[in-house]
Amino acid sequence: MRLWIKDPMAILALGAERGVVVEDGRIAELVGRGASPGKPVEQTFDAGQHVIVPGLINTHHHFFQTLTRAHPEAINKELFPWLETLYPIWARNVTPAGFRLATRLSLTELLMSGCTCVSDHHYLYPAGLEDAMDIQAEEAERLGMRMTLTRGSMNLSVKDGGLPPDTVVQDEETILTDCERVLARYHDSDEGAMLQVALAPCAPFTVSKRLMLDTADLAERFDCRLHTHLAETLDEDEYCLEHFGCRPVDYLEECGWLTDRVWLAHGIHFNDEEVRRLGRHHVGVCHCPTSNMTLASGQCRTKELEDAGSPVGLGVDGSASNDNSNLMESLRHALMINRLTYDAASVTHFDTFRWATEGSARCLGRTDIGAITAGHQADFAFYTLDELRFSGAHDPIAALVMCGAHAADRVMIGGTWRVEHGQPTGVDVGRLRHEHGAAARRFMGTV
Ligand SMILES: [Zn+2]
Repeated sequence: MRLWIKDPMAILALGAERGVVVEDGRIAELVGRGASPGKPVEQTFDAGQHVIVPGLINTHHHFFQTLTRAHPEAINKELFPWLETLYPIWARNVTPAGFRLATRLSLTELLMSGCTCVSDHHYLYPAGLEDAMDIQAEEAERLGMRMTLTRGSMNLSVKDGGLPPDTVVQDEETILTDCERVLARYHDSDEGAMLQVALAPCAPFTVSKRLMLDTADLAERFDCRLHTHLAETLDEDEYCLEHFGCRPVDYLEECGWLTDRVWLAHGIHFNDEEVRRLGRHHVGVCHCPTSNMTLASGQCRTKELEDAGSPVGLGVDGSASNDNSNLMESLRHALMINRLTYDAASVTHFDTFRWATEGSARCLGRTDIGAITAGHQADFAFYTLDELRFSGAHDPIAALVMCGAHAADRVMIGGTWRVEHGQPTGVDVGRLRHEHGAAARRFMGTV
């Protein structure tokens, strides 16, 4: 079946003024100004009310944290004290049922903002949550979203001088055995994959060096991506100097992690030489502007990193440091914080779209998504400009970022509609809100 998405109000693609033709889940052709599809189409969708962009890709999140949004004991703190407050609350309360609802809620919220592919860095494994990756795979399949299951890990806890409580970490053998199981079961490296797997020690200082090295070996063997938090705060620099006698990037290199298989969350506190070194090895960085502003962590050197050769993607980060999962909103925040870092003329809305699409796809190691190009997967987000916030807007693509688009009217993933008229297919949003809210109440100790 050939579907012509016809005559969009605007589209973020060159040579597609009259839209795109979708066939077998892929973009079959772009239809340029004054042209018509090269072959007959069976169906036409009139996109005259829509601004179309490539499906957004979220490259860093912690879904379980949606259960502790705006938590009174954690708000108004910076990263380390924030973590020390929340770890015991998470350790006591994250159950498989709550985790499933947190996953469903985060995926749905991302999807409704225009996101078509996600990765969730899940590193918390209290007893009972051993099937976390299976729960996430089921929920992503249910919504028809692409997902990189990001199997996190921690094996250092309070007893080893780390921050997490003993009850949420696992031993190295348990971690590596489960990583292999998850890779064998879910990692699909084929074009158009709906599920892939990445391996992700929480941060170099919450796992042993042995685990960093062995995780990198496993990733090599299964040809999958590697992910971790790095250089998020100045506290981390001090911690590394004290415990390892070197800076975070040096330690990463010692662990064999300076490769193009790796993408890092945050990547803020790099000096010039480190930026060059990361770029030379094409290490990706997921920029998390909302979280970085919320926790006052600092400003990512997006432009220098890209110039040096690093892919830069975008992520909302965990919902206890954002505290929502709206990737479209993060584009606006990225525009603002990067203009403060650089200047108004050298950071545009096109930069923010590049980070959230092509850059994010490169971080996840994918070449089949992230751009509206013939042969790519048919993943799109469609926005209308009907709300008051857009009234009077002239440039439709710029308006999405400048006026603050936050909800897609339609989302297509692999040629299938997953959001129509603002509603995700097959999800009772009201019921989800109610069930997730009930699950979150136990984190206040009121249930
Ligand atoms: Zn994070």
